[in-house]
Amino acid sequence: MTDINLKSIPDSIEAMRKFAEVYAKRTGTFFCSDITVTAVVIEGLARHKDDYGSPLCPCRHYVNKSKEVLSAYWNCPCVPMRERKECHCMLFLSPDSQFAGNSQEAGSKSILDLIS
Ligand code: SF4
Repeated sequence: MTDINLKSIPDSIEAMRKFAEVYAKRTGTFFCSDITVTAVVIEGLARHKDDYGSPLCPCRHYVNKSKEVLSAYWNCPCVPMRERKECHCMLFLSPDSQFAGNSQEAGSKSILDLIS
């Protein structure tokens, strides 16, 4: 599928924002001190969820996204995150990361403002 359903994007962005907040709190990780990074990753996850049915990691190149979704390895939270708390997108950062902010919340208004 290549068409992006623009109408559904705000809903899916909100769903991914809520997921990211819950998951950050559950794993003791924090969003980036540059909230733009957080917003762009959440938007990318939402677009993949809309287009492919799963929030495939938006920070990688795939030859075939539909096949990647089926393998589930890079569906967020990906295996490296689940097993080792490694998020190369910098959505979920450990507290000792030099890029970590001090928030596990990304307000929906600020996210939408940043990506619109
Ligand atoms: Fe999600 Fe993993 Fe991508 Fe981080 S690296 S955004 S945890 S899929």
